[in-house]
Amino acid sequence: MRVPVLRSVADLRAALAPWRHAGETIGLVPTMGALHEGHLSLVRLAKAECRRAVATIFVNPSQFGANEDLSAYPRDEAADLKLLDSVETDLLFAPAVEEIYPPGFATTVTVAGLTEHLCGPHRPGHFAGVATVVTKLLTQALPDQAYFGEKDFQQLQVIRRLARDLDLPVAIRGGATMRGVDGLALSSRNRYLTAEDRAKAAALPRLLREAAKRLAGGGEADAVLSEVRQGLTTAGFTRIDYVTLADEAALQPLPRAAAGSRVFAAAWLGRTRLIDNWPVK
Ligand code: AMP
Repeated sequence: MRVPVLRSVADLRAALAPWRHAGETIGLVPTMGALHEGHLSLVRLAKAECRRAVATIFVNPSQFGANEDLSAYPRDEAADLKLLDSVETDLLFAPAVEEIYPPGFATTVTVAGLTEHLCGPHRPGHFAGVATVVTKLLTQALPDQAYFGEKDFQQLQVIRRLARDLDLPVAIRGGATMRGVDGLALSSRNRYLTAEDRAKAAALPRLLREAAKRLAGGGEADAVLSEVRQGLTTAGFTRIDYVTLADEAALQPLPRAAAGSRVFAAAWLGRTRLIDNWPVK
């Protein structure tokens, strides 16, 4: 098998129309490429729930800040195609930047509220970039279901909100975070880590898991989270953007755990920013 690759919205729509007319359900898996098992788990979920799984690869410039890693972001379409082939992806949509943002492009989708905390203040414009490109991908492909990872939990909630608010006829599905044996969430950005930093990185999920346990036992967020910050610094993290307990629905910070809360963190190892989250049960 060889996954067909389409570059234009017109070709994508032409390829999907006969499937839709035949009553075949379509699952969409948007990615930025440099694929790993986290992405593949979403394609597998799409294949399990829909007749067709369509992946997209688009490194979206509008979601990167001026000082972020857009030009360095890992790209390897040949390797990605092999992986997509291995999970029987039906189609890959991999447009050029001009196809998504032609000259004169002037529209932005912003989601209020959910973007005020966690990554929002640290990455100005990031979620507007994500919301805009995901809105476009959803209206271009008109899938029945679209799949996003819980690893980027705030992103998942932002996309759920925009799909609801804009009446997009698509079910947004979340997939569990895939992790390495040491617990580190798989991420395309892990490729930036030196072997030494890769070893330090495992402290992030470990500290979040321990914090979630203590918060579930009634611990005060202030005390538990400041220990996580100390633990990250001791482990060698060079900068901490946030360590926060928040409710899953509105992503508002909480003083102590309640039903449906999660610990969230973003921290840096040198020039690599890692994020993770853990449910408090
Ligand atoms: P990205 O290519 O990083 O933009 O990610 C594309 C999609 O894959 C997003 O919905 C991510 O949340 C999801 N994803 C990334 N890493 C993981 C992971 N370790 N486990 C599950 N999903 C993931």
